[in-house]
Amino acid sequence: MDPLTEELRRDRSDRASSVAATLRARDIDVVAVTWVDTSGIVRMKAVPVERFSHAAAWGIGASPVFDAFLVDDSILTEHVAGGPTGDLRLYPDVERVTAFAALPGWAWAPADRYTQNGTPHPRDPRLLLRRLVGELADDGYELRTAIEFEWTVSRPDPLDPDAFRPATSAPAYGMARVSELAPYLREVVSRLRDSGIAVEQIHPEYEVGQFELSVAASNPVDTADTAVLVRETIRAVSGAHGLRATFSPMVVPGDVGNGGHVHLSLWREGMNRMYGGPGPSGIGREGENFAAGILDHLPALLALGCPAVVSYLRLRPSCWAGVFRCWGLENREAALRYVTGSEGEREHAANIEIKTFDAAANPYLASAGLLAAGRAGLRTGATLPEPVAGDPARLDSGIRAARGITPLPTTLAEAVAAFDSDDVLCAAFGDELADTISSVRRGEIALFADATPEQIADASRWRY
Ligand code: GLU
Ligand code: MG
Repeated sequence: MDPLTEELRRDRSDRASSVAATLRARDIDVVAVTWVDTSGIVRMKAVPVERFSHAAAWGIGASPVFDAFLVDDSILTEHVAGGPTGDLRLYPDVERVTAFAALPGWAWAPADRYTQNGTPHPRDPRLLLRRLVGELADDGYELRTAIEFEWTVSRPDPLDPDAFRPATSAPAYGMARVSELAPYLREVVSRLRDSGIAVEQIHPEYEVGQFELSVAASNPVDTADTAVLVRETIRAVSGAHGLRATFSPMVVPGDVGNGGHVHLSLWREGMNRMYGGPGPSGIGREGENFAAGILDHLPALLALGCPAVVSYLRLRPSCWAGVFRCWGLENREAALRYVTGSEGEREHAANIEIKTFDAAANPYLASAGLLAAGRAGLRTGATLPEPVAGDPARLDSGIRAARGITPLPTTLAEAVAAFDSDDVLCAAFGDELADTISSVRRGEIALFADATPEQIADASRWRY
């Protein structure tokens, strides 16, 4: 990423002025500028709309300490990012600013974080993702991603607002469940539409109070930005309906959790390389290389895509969370589900779904990891093993071992150890960011060292 020059600042200021005029005409007073911290929490600063142009040119001050925040807002003081000294600048992305329809009078923009010298902050996940997308483009490829959002809705008891009280009781995937919350679900869809996000599908999920929503695929930075807006919109609409939403991977231990599955397809010269090749099940050769790179690095990638201690309460076999390191055609128990869509649309629709990732992930970091791993697979010409049909948990353990179907990490500590020794991911992220991620993960492991699953779920429920 290039440093910010005088000319760039002028250009940003001009573009932001015209955006600000549009916002004012829409009765918007404040712009929320967000970034996602290492542990996956969306943090923000805001400027009145009349300061937006200055913020776009010169940034908004924010301490680097946020990189060392843990999920409970405690701060890793021993870490280099955790001190009181220093300042960063948050630069709202002028291209992405949009009305935050669920919070009338507010607009929203994702931030890139730079130093006071105008150089990219080495620990900024959004700039990292942008850089990796650019490097992939230099190789001639484009990645398209989409994130599925699963969340759980509680109807809080005013006397005990943190207790989980599912807002629905009707059956899984049932129309009756929609009837229970129809005005709420309608408003989620319409507020997203008014914020420029086209919902492709919405439905009740398996657990009581659990829903899912999906949006169209886009470039990875756009998709990660959208993930922030979707989550915060759902949160805001829930509040307006007297409800409380959580994206925590596990709301009640033993239940089915909230995933944050990532779909991705690899394109070159306008063609989807996930289909039409000689590979198993018809996957294209380059698509196979990319997917195989992800499968190779998956244990380490869990430190990004399943980043929290509570993530590992979700990762149980036979819950559609993809806990075995394997892939399979339309197999919802494989970590990598190869989705082809219907005959006639496969050239466009074919993609790989990472089932294991959850909704606690920082979407920029998770996508950056997938991109780095996939690119490594392209470089080495990695190939996929035989696809797996059916639930790997039901295979005899000897057969599983013979076929190389291994369990993915079952604790955050295992995933972090894999991340620390993954040269590809650490090189792509750079030492400072890789070290920050490991330190924050270890800090959260220590935080919950003596906690029971119930205590972990309780402490995490309203954080995500
Ligand atoms: N809720 C499941 C999970 O934990 C996934 C269900 C589905 O495949 O949509 O990932
Ligand atoms: Mg689902």
